[in-house]
Amino acid sequence: MHGTSREKLTRSAGRAIITRMTAVESNRSESLSVPVLGRFAPSPTGPLHFGSLVAAVGSFCLARQTGGQWLLRIEDLDQPRVVPGAADTIMRTLEQLALVWDGPVVWQSRRTEAYQSALEHLRQQGLLFECGCSRKEILASAPHAGEEGPVYPGTCRRGLPPGRRPRMQRIRVPEEQVCFTDGVYGARAQCLAQAVGDFVLRRADGLFAYQLAVVVDDAEAGVNQVVRGADLLLSTPRQVYLQNCLGYPIPRYVHLPLALGDDGQKISKRHGVIESIAAGCEAELLWRALFFLGQEPPKEGCGGTPEEILAWAVPHFNLSRVPRTDRQVADILEKKRKIAIDSAGKTR
Ligand SMILES: [Zn+2]
Repeated sequence: MHGTSREKLTRSAGRAIITRMTAVESNRSESLSVPVLGRFAPSPTGPLHFGSLVAAVGSFCLARQTGGQWLLRIEDLDQPRVVPGAADTIMRTLEQLALVWDGPVVWQSRRTEAYQSALEHLRQQGLLFECGCSRKEILASAPHAGEEGPVYPGTCRRGLPPGRRPRMQRIRVPEEQVCFTDGVYGARAQCLAQAVGDFVLRRADGLFAYQLAVVVDDAEAGVNQVVRGADLLLSTPRQVYLQNCLGYPIPRYVHLPLALGDDGQKISKRHGVIESIAAGCEAELLWRALFFLGQEPPKEGCGGTPEEILAWAVPHFNLSRVPRTDRQVADILEKKRKIAIDSAGKTR
C-alpha cells in the first residue's frame, strides 16, 4: 500500500474516465461482427528479429482467420534511433515470408499533424501540463519506483515552479485502476498514478511519445485488434487511458509471450536477427515462429513454401494454445531445442 496524494481534479477526471470505459466495454459484444483490422508495427531500428517475427505471424493469423485485414505501420517516430534502410529490409523480409499486408504502409514520421491535433484535444480538456523537470530530478525525487522506472512525483502538475522553463508535456492520470482484458494474459488492472504517474506525451526533444502515437495511429486506421509482444503489456493501461480521454474505441489486446534468446534474455538486436533468409528456409522460419506460439504446424511444412505453411496456420491458429507464462515459454524453448538437435542428427 502506498500513501497517495489525492487531488480532487484527478479524482473526478478519473471517475469520468472509468464510467466511459464501462460504456465502451459493454458495447463490445455488439461489435463482434465487425471485421478484424489487425496490424504489425515494427520499429526500423534494425532488421526483423525472431521476437518481432513471432508478433508478425501471430497478428497476421489472428486477423486473416476471421477474413480481416492486416496493416503495416513503420514506427519511425524516434528518428535518432532509426537505422537507414532498416524499414526496407523489414518489408522485404515480410514479403519473402508471404506475410503480405493490406493497403498502404503508414509511416509515423509523416503523421505529426495527427499527433498534434490529439494533443490539442487533450489540452482543451485540461488534462495536460508542462513539466520542467529533468530526468535526474525525477529520479532523485521519485518517492518509489514504479513498474517501469521512477514514478513522476507530480512536481509541476499545479504549474511550473518559479524560474523553470517547460521541457515536456505530461498528462494527468487518475488514482483509479485502468482495466482491460488481454486475449492471452486475461484480466489486467493497473493504477497509473502508482505505477507510472503523470506520463509524458511530448518529450523534451520535441518528439511525440510512443504512447500517444500508437493510440492515434490505431484509432485513425480503425485497428480493432492489437497483437504484439508482452513487453508492451505494462504500457497498455496508459494507452487504454488515452483512448478513453480521446473518445476512441478500445481495441482487443492480445500480448504474445516474448521470444527469449538462449541466454534467457529477451530477443533483441543481438539475438536472432533475420538479416537475410536463405532461399528455401522461409517456411522453416515461419514453422519455428508458430511452434514458439504453442501451435502444432505439421513437420513437413518446413520443407514447403511460406504460402503453404501460412495456408495451414491461418485457419489452425489457436489462441488458447499460446503459452502464457515464462515457465511455459521456457518449456517450449527446451522442446524446440530438442527437436532442433533431433532433426540435425537426422539430416546432417
Ligand atoms: Zn515536472
